[in-house]
Amino acid sequence: MAAREPMFLECSECGTRYYRTTKTTSALKQGQKIEKMKFCPKCRMHRVHKERKK
Ligand SMILES: [Zn+2]
Repeated sequence: MAAREPMFLECSECGTRYYRTTKTTSALKQGQKIEKMKFCPKCRMHRVHKERKK
């Protein structure tokens, strides 16, 4: 069973960290970066959110 690492998803435009997620350690070792389209409450629109460590 893979361990999970807590992550924040940060808006690439304004830097707001509104979402939290987890990532498996196996994904970390592979250097995979999470990028998701999420609604940013500050920008008031959908933006690309990138992972940030806690
Ligand atoms: Zn934003």
